[in-house]
Amino acid sequence: MEKRELLYEGKAKKVYATDDPELLIVDYKDDATAFNGLKKGTIAGKGSINNRMSNALMRMLGKYGVPTHFVRELSDRETLVRRVQIVALEVIIRNIAAGSFAKHYGVCEGTPLKISTIEFSYKNDALGDPLINEYHAQALGLATKAEIDRISELAFRVNKELQAFWLSCGVTLVDFKLEFGRLNDGSIILADEISPDTCRLWDAQTGEKLDKDRFRRDMGGVEEAYREIMSRLETHMA
Ligand code: UDP
Repeated sequence: MEKRELLYEGKAKKVYATDDPELLIVDYKDDATAFNGLKKGTIAGKGSINNRMSNALMRMLGKYGVPTHFVRELSDRETLVRRVQIVALEVIIRNIAAGSFAKHYGVCEGTPLKISTIEFSYKNDALGDPLINEYHAQALGLATKAEIDRISELAFRVNKELQAFWLSCGVTLVDFKLEFGRLNDGSIILADEISPDTCRLWDAQTGEKLDKDRFRRDMGGVEEAYREIMSRLETHMA
């Protein structure tokens, strides 16, 4: 597969065209940002970990009937994915109160939620990814009702499978963000990444944070946490 022109450079990834118009190459960087780009840094080894973790999890989800953009891992940092039109929504599933949920609703971080929740943010950096509801998403033309229903169904299926997998690694899946894309036939598939950048992952015994919150909150041990969570995944992935 031939890597052609750079199409897009985001905060954590670069996306390249290939000689196949339906396929793209994603190249993961070690760059890290938080608070809508206000905080910048690098996490050594993150690109490779996020690439390999996201691929392993998407491969697993594919087996459980969740369609994803994953095609083939090309190298430590590069993956071949299906080209989609990204739905401009960040889809967040929560099992335990943390981050903005804990703050908005005045609940202690770590409080288990009585049900798992879903929420949507409008993917728009200039606006700071504001929280929106399903009506807003339709009103803004970001997705149809049928697409939102399908996205919600897939997001909860992802939660069920990821929760069970991480539990087998001794890790609690607190919350995570997903992005979805449309194929030419209009069907919805899981896109973007699933990694410690986009999930909150806590050691099930000690509650130790093994994710990007260590970077966001200047807790130290960031590289070690990424290596630890990757090694748990590698040990438990059949
Ligand atoms: N998240 C993400 N990208 C974002 C915002 C959130 O990947 O732009 C993830 C984050 O890692 C966490 C979950 O979504 O696992 C919920 O994040 P929250 O809304 O609590 O926001 P935060 O506290 O990170 O600002």
